[in-house]
Amino acid sequence: MNTGSWENNVRKVVPYVPGEQPKFSNVIKLNTNENPYPPSPSVRKVLDEYNCADMRLYPDPDASVLVNAIAERYGVKSSQVFVGVGSDDVLSVAFLTFFNSDKPVLFPDITYSFYDVWADVYRIPYIQKPLDSDFRINPDDYKCENGGIIFPNPNAPTGCEESLEMIEDIVKSNPGSVVIIDEAYVDFGAESALSLTEKYENLLVVQTFSKSRSMAGMRIGYAIGNEKLIKYMNDVKFSINSYTMTPLTILCGAAGIKDEEYFVRTVNKITETREYSKKRLAELGFTFPDSKSNFIFASHKSVPASEIFTALKERKIYVRYWNKEKINNHLRISVGTREEMDELFGALEGILK
Ligand SMILES: *Cc1c(COP(=O)(O)O)cnc(C)c1O
Repeated sequence: MNTGSWENNVRKVVPYVPGEQPKFSNVIKLNTNENPYPPSPSVRKVLDEYNCADMRLYPDPDASVLVNAIAERYGVKSSQVFVGVGSDDVLSVAFLTFFNSDKPVLFPDITYSFYDVWADVYRIPYIQKPLDSDFRINPDDYKCENGGIIFPNPNAPTGCEESLEMIEDIVKSNPGSVVIIDEAYVDFGAESALSLTEKYENLLVVQTFSKSRSMAGMRIGYAIGNEKLIKYMNDVKFSINSYTMTPLTILCGAAGIKDEEYFVRTVNKITETREYSKKRLAELGFTFPDSKSNFIFASHKSVPASEIFTALKERKIYVRYWNKEKINNHLRISVGTREEMDELFGALEGILK
């Protein structure tokens, strides 16, 4: 008999809070780092040709068409690729698979705010290592006993890129744990750690279709690493849910990643707009670490970020603000189209004067 309250036995967690998705249109949405351009026209074609009767069938549990297309794009074996429902799903499976010791997992104090949520929900101990005053990672912080390491490169929400040498140093110093590099923004100008996966068994690189490939709504993420890492992740995934990727997702993802020309063209447009935006923001009195991502983490010299955030929202321009120690005077501004950014700068001129 158990006479206590059933609520004592609930897995209680404080959930991750995603950026706001406004329910009305005609907003300028620069708050969740989505791509301002539609996906490749080849994705449209898949939708046009899709036979709805195929929905009767379960999808391919291995998502082979998508896995093979990703493997081909990166010149790796299909057995080195794991796919999931956005990189959030991929990262969640990686936490469950690899961060499985009593020692703490290490990640920066200012970083993707889902890491501590996964650690909490899976009951994984963790320590957050402070970034320095320029928002940079100190590699020596990651050379102590640990049960795993994870950080994004470029980091979020700072946009800072860390060098491949520094990443290799950390991976090499930790043969006893898996090091995960979350490369959600790598396509916007940072160097990928993928080449190091050939050399180091304990390195897992995670990427996503949500930002550089304009498909946040389709939920496609992937991890690339040593075959053994991928096998262990698939064992865990197939112990929870075999059918995570819908047939449409698999087909759209494969078509999308094959259109390299479109990918390069849209990514270049965004990086050009980012560099233009850096100039305009500096002229308006903002400072920011040099961003290699599709967002800029900006602080104004005299007007508090919270005030700018509210004033922009009144003008239906959404950016991201965290009321959190060390970053509560910063705004994370996603890079939209040139036109959207000009609207933003016009609004900022009015707010700041
Ligand atoms: C956006 C983002 C993700 C998750 O993206 P998905 O849409 O789940 O693929 C993961 N890590 C970082 C750092 C991100 O910014």
